[in-house]
Amino acid sequence: MAKIITITNQKGGVGKTTTCVNLAASLAATHKRVLMIDLDPQGNATMGSGIDKHQLECSVYELLTDQASAADAIITETQCGYHLIGANGDLTAAEVELLQLPRREFRLKMALLPVMDDYDYILIDNPPSLNLLTVNALAASAGVIIPMQCEYYALEGISALVGTINKINQRLNPSLKIEGILRTMFDPRMSLTKDVSAHLVEYFGDKVYRTVIPRNVRLAEAPSHGLPALQYDKNSRGALAYLALAGELIRRTDREQAAETAPTETA
Ligand code: ADP
Ligand code: MG
Repeated sequence: MAKIITITNQKGGVGKTTTCVNLAASLAATHKRVLMIDLDPQGNATMGSGIDKHQLECSVYELLTDQASAADAIITETQCGYHLIGANGDLTAAEVELLQLPRREFRLKMALLPVMDDYDYILIDNPPSLNLLTVNALAASAGVIIPMQCEYYALEGISALVGTINKINQRLNPSLKIEGILRTMFDPRMSLTKDVSAHLVEYFGDKVYRTVIPRNVRLAEAPSHGLPALQYDKNSRGALAYLALAGELIRRTDREQAAETAPTETA
């Protein structure tokens, strides 16, 4: 059954979309079955996967508002190795429409049920806000990956996010966990980066991924070609870092699953 992971941080420009696209491509490259869902009306993850957001016949908007099934909305013909449910400006309307619908926080979770056995991982890219779309993503997910730039204000926003995750945990989704904290656009030469990074490890312990994503121009260029960095320049530092992240994520998931299925010892 698919493990659903939300990539979120209410700050913009921290590398959410870059992480979603490149982690999806890296997991697919290791032969995992991957679905990526773009839940941002800006549609950057859609465009970055080589799909024109203006030409979508069916998007996550139709999925959330019951006008389409997951099977209708999934695009299998991408050049990236993963399947995609795309988004565009239509999704802005969904936020308002969702308010009127029953079980409005669980629309995404319910819509994905029929395809849960078709994938190993479902990754969800989010808008830079904590709105009903993000709540839908969190209510559907087993884990949250929080990409962070190690800068002064980074830590400020994260306590609000952790608070939201705790609330979702209590009210909507008891199995939601912080999957990992990912340091993005990392520059080890900056002492501020090192300080913030040390604080993160102090606070989140081994939730902080060992893999760091360096600042790498290939990661910034690849979206304009509609490709993940792995397809654009497979030997770039950015592509290799996301491959390493995929390895770390898979190992953690395997360990968790082994712990869950291990027979409990009897005295
Ligand atoms: P978000 O989705 O959080 O708003 P993006 O993933 O769109 O953030 O990243 C913001 C900008 O920074 C984009 O132009 C992206 O190409 C660039 N970027 C993201 N990660 C890196 C990186 N590791 N190195 C260089 N540029 C990056
Ligand atoms: Mg984005």
